[in-house]
Amino acid sequence: MEKYIKIILDGYYGYWNYLTSEILYPSWQNYFYWLIGLSVVVFALEVIVPWRKSQPIFRKDFWLDVFYMFFNFFLFSLILYNALSNVFVELFNDFLGVFGITNVVAIQINTWPIWGQFLLMFILADFIQWNVHRMLHRVPWLWEFHKVHHSVEQMGFAAHLRYHWMETIVYKSVQYLPLAMIGFGLDDFFILHIFTIAIGHLNHANLKITYGPLKYILNNPIMHTWHHVKNLPSDKRHGVNYGITLSLWDYLFGTAYIPHDGENEPLGFDKVEEFPQTFWSQITYPWLKKKA
Ligand SMILES: [Zn+2]
Ligand SMILES: [Zn+2]
Repeated sequence: MEKYIKIILDGYYGYWNYLTSEILYPSWQNYFYWLIGLSVVVFALEVIVPWRKSQPIFRKDFWLDVFYMFFNFFLFSLILYNALSNVFVELFNDFLGVFGITNVVAIQINTWPIWGQFLLMFILADFIQWNVHRMLHRVPWLWEFHKVHHSVEQMGFAAHLRYHWMETIVYKSVQYLPLAMIGFGLDDFFILHIFTIAIGHLNHANLKITYGPLKYILNNPIMHTWHHVKNLPSDKRHGVNYGITLSLWDYLFGTAYIPHDGENEPLGFDKVEEFPQTFWSQITYPWLKKKA
């Protein structure tokens, strides 16, 4: 027990140091400034070449979503995630130790060239996320959490990171074991994370981009707009276009749906206007709703 308390405290201390040094010392390997930089670039594009021209530059929920962005990316780790995940990993390793397993790595890929490791990590993690995202839509109690992301009614880059913190827990716990089995940690490959943030920002941006023929591989604003559309045909009521960074899975598994560009399609879900409007009421909503 003492060991776990120490892990929690070390987790807090370590993450606090990490966060302050991120803010104090900008560098090319710095998430904090990359997030700000990418946000500024995508926002500038939205201002210069907007897709929906009638949408205000500071669209509905702009500042709420900016707060979500920093909360989900940094503050949540400080409050809960980092300590919790360190404890989880230690518990998991102790649990495996009971069975005499000291190493979960099933396939040695560290002898592979670095680009091969990078590609495998990218494709595998994205495919797992695509499956988790489908689950978020199909499992009713998970959908209650995912609704926070779908309560966006006007698209803009910051909507990308508007989601309930439980999603972080769900995504990361599902990904942990498969990635650990090939010797990866969740945060390997800095550049991969930066790339996925850039694509995610663009997916939600008020920009009309599809990347030409690459649209069959990369998710894009038009495709992801349809993921957020309020009224879908009844045979697609669980959702369409679940892709995170890659659109490939939706084309392979028949969940791609882009009938037209969707510029003026209403976004959200049934009765979205009754959904809570503030950060606190949104993140407490899934639990309070059950009692109501
Ligand atoms: Zn979704
Ligand atoms: Zn989205």
